[in-house]
Amino acid sequence: MMKLVFATNNKNKIKEIKHLLNNSLEILSLEDIQCFEDIPETSDTIEGNAIQKAQYVYENYGYNCFADDTGLEIEALNGEPGIYSARYAGEEKNPEMNMNKVLDKLKNVSNRNARFKTVIALIIDGKTTCFEGIVEGEITHAKSGSEGFGYDPIFMPKGYNKTYSEMSLDIKNTMSHRAIATKKLIAFLKK
Ligand code: IMP
Repeated sequence: MMKLVFATNNKNKIKEIKHLLNNSLEILSLEDIQCFEDIPETSDTIEGNAIQKAQYVYENYGYNCFADDTGLEIEALNGEPGIYSARYAGEEKNPEMNMNKVLDKLKNVSNRNARFKTVIALIIDGKTTCFEGIVEGEITHAKSGSEGFGYDPIFMPKGYNKTYSEMSLDIKNTMSHRAIATKKLIAFLKK
């Protein structure tokens, strides 16, 4: 059975992908391969960071590997926070502070268009393939909802009258930016 590293320490992400793959591949986490260092993420694009992380594992540990990177891109802020999504309001990576900063910057702005973008970069035998998931939507005027994480309380996907945070996880996990990219990865791996 092929071994494939998912370059993440997020246990939920590992669990989800194992479930979706029906154990048809052996998925290893960074911990499983004893990779405990901070993997550099110095690109200025989401795609670049995903590729950089996957390449780091492939080159330093010799495993086939995939890595993901996600950002929230707000039109009126020229694509911010983008690659800075996790640490938009500072290195504490505090979601409340990040959302406050977004709401503050958009206080008198009528264009609320935004999108979430996930890129998954897969490297098998040195060959890189990227899978993208985008969900368009709007930044609300206030936080709403209690599910999820990150910017979920202020992001309302197009076609829904709920924020990500007001949806059940089951629903979000079938339609989110990450779900779209993950489905493309799974389809590729299964063939
Ligand atoms: P990562 O690349 O998956 O670590 O995501 C980077 C940052 O984007 C996170 O720290 C969150 O702030 C934000 N983010 C990613 N995915 C989501 C999501 O599904 N909902 C809300 N925020 C998210």
